[in-house]
Amino acid sequence: LSVSHYLVDRRDLLFVLNEQLGLGKLTELPKYKDFDQGDFDLVLDEAIKVATELLSGLNKVADEQQCKLVDGKVVLPDGFVPAFKTFCEAGWVSPHGNPEHGGQGLPFTLTVSLSELFIGANPSFFFLPALTAAAANVLEDFGSEAHKQRFLEPMLTGRWTGTMCLTEPQAGSAVGELTTSARPLDGTERFALTGSKIFISAGDHEAAENIIHLVLARVEGDPAGTKGLSLFIVPKYKVDEAGRVGESNDVVTTALEHKMGINGSPTCALAFGENGDCEGYLLGERRMGIVYMFKMMNEARIMCGIQCAAAANASYQQALAYARDRVQGTRATSKSDERVAIIEHPDVRRNLLWMKSVSEGLRALLHQAAYWADLAVGLTDEKEVTRYQDLLELLTPICKAYATDMGFYVTEKGIQVLGGYGYVREYPLEQYMRDVKIASLYEGTNGIQALDLLGRKMRLKGGGLFMNWLQEANGSLQPHKDHPELGTLVQAVDKAKNALGEVTFAFPALGQKDPELFILQATPFLRAFGHVEVARQLVLQALIAQKALDALAKKAGAESPEQRRALLQDDSEARFYDGKVQAARFFVGNVLPETFSLAKSMKTPDRSALDIVF
Ligand SMILES: Cc1cc2nc3c(=O)[nH]c(=O)nc-3n(C[C@H](O)[C@H](O)[C@H](O)COP(=O)(O)OP(=O)(O)OC[C@H]3O[C@@H](n4cnc5c(N)ncnc54)[C@H](O)[C@@H]3O)c2cc1C
Repeated sequence: LSVSHYLVDRRDLLFVLNEQLGLGKLTELPKYKDFDQGDFDLVLDEAIKVATELLSGLNKVADEQQCKLVDGKVVLPDGFVPAFKTFCEAGWVSPHGNPEHGGQGLPFTLTVSLSELFIGANPSFFFLPALTAAAANVLEDFGSEAHKQRFLEPMLTGRWTGTMCLTEPQAGSAVGELTTSARPLDGTERFALTGSKIFISAGDHEAAENIIHLVLARVEGDPAGTKGLSLFIVPKYKVDEAGRVGESNDVVTTALEHKMGINGSPTCALAFGENGDCEGYLLGERRMGIVYMFKMMNEARIMCGIQCAAAANASYQQALAYARDRVQGTRATSKSDERVAIIEHPDVRRNLLWMKSVSEGLRALLHQAAYWADLAVGLTDEKEVTRYQDLLELLTPICKAYATDMGFYVTEKGIQVLGGYGYVREYPLEQYMRDVKIASLYEGTNGIQALDLLGRKMRLKGGGLFMNWLQEANGSLQPHKDHPELGTLVQAVDKAKNALGEVTFAFPALGQKDPELFILQATPFLRAFGHVEVARQLVLQALIAQKALDALAKKAGAESPEQRRALLQDDSEARFYDGKVQAARFFVGNVLPETFSLAKSMKTPDRSALDIVF
């Protein structure tokens, strides 16, 4: 058993991409017409090699060595700089980016798989390319032609990296309270920036020639709050109009955080313009900064979910391998003194199937969201585009908060499966758990995501986004309600969906009567919604898997339960499909029921959290 090696579940990735979503169908869209299925398969296999051969070996080293601030410069863990060079040269910085500027133009759905592989293998490393691609996307969408010419190609090819700079000591969730300011230098484009940012991921390092910070600041005289914020392109080293890198731009790393996890990622405190010489360029229009930043953050929120789906899946693979290997005790129900692997103990099996069903459910959720994003940008029919945009918009806070909470719980359960060995550093489980915790905090804490879902997304278009999702859910479930083997699962998800709907329709009255009590329901509502959507995904997967399993059984002439059992022993494909069905059964039977207790408590909510005098 490999104790630190990243274990990839290629089979399940292929299942989601090809059997559930139909990645190949995206080649019918004009945007992806130059690709074929063979290209996608090749890219995925190359990415698996990069994840397992280039990145995973550096994960533990990074955790142990951490980043260091030496003479004002950030030193990355051993191996990161050459690995980043190799990674960029192979074109992995922006699989989804515009090919005109150095991206590969691949579907976002496939990019989610690649991100899962890279971030699962080495989360700290992946911040470098992922933030760069995210910053480049904002430039692409909102930057002037001149800015695109100057910044995009070096970023999408990884010569320069990118950051997002929002947080200040007094302005975390309340980003509108930030005080970094910008003073016009000439005309409308060049500004002098002054201020301090904290917690900036990949804020400084020597892996690239330059770092392009996207800094949220307020132009002197602009209104207070988020509406007065503008976004600035602030390079670490000045860049002339021809794109040549010059002298320092007065961006100083004043401190490096010491953290619980992602220790190979430099989390920096940055001072802009301490010597009065920090120049930034206004990105897009003045006072539109928060709108542009949201664009970046929406993708980053999906990325947080992927980070957790990846850690959850990696934890499950490790726990499964360990449980098969570790011999301990005898079977509880047998008089035999034969010692068995812990995977034979019912409680360990329960933990493992909890991990499998949740982690595969999260993977499905995130790929589904990305597929909607691909359809939203690739289709031409306006109604269809709106439908998929709305689904994505509604589900984004769930992709972020549900996935990061549940993914964290999966990593914790992984430690439980290993017992004491899960707690020690010889095995990667404890690092997975420490590394992944951050995802529930950054890109808007999960509490803020819940408010976004309940307070904003559920109200958009007069509740139209939720109605659209109900329609999508009904459309996918109704035809299978009488399925011979899985009909009861379909009906259970349908019932949970209806319970969610009932609560939703009761909310306006609660909101009017007791607005604070209504707000208090945000986190339980998000959890319940996540359960239903993930159950839906798992049941849809089970329907596909059951069909494939039946076909395999028919081909093998396996009719009796004994023959089918023997087929599962002998045939890894049959085992895989059966595992998908069991995962759906488990989730519906053991995780989804929480929706009903949450729905009940949200309908007659308890006020103690508001009444208590702390
Ligand atoms: C490792 C790491 C990397 C980071 N990377 C970046 C980066 O690259 N760029 C960047 O700009 N920032 C980054 N951050 C900052 C991160 O986004 C913030 O920490 C986060 O936004 C929360 O802000 P805060 O820490 O000030 O917490 P606070 O805002 O003080 O929140 C504390 C608690 O109060 C709750 N809370 C606060 N306000 C409300 C409210 N109005 N309603 C309900 N609940 C509320 C929160 O949900 C949370 O539970 C990073 C942070 C870390 C630790």
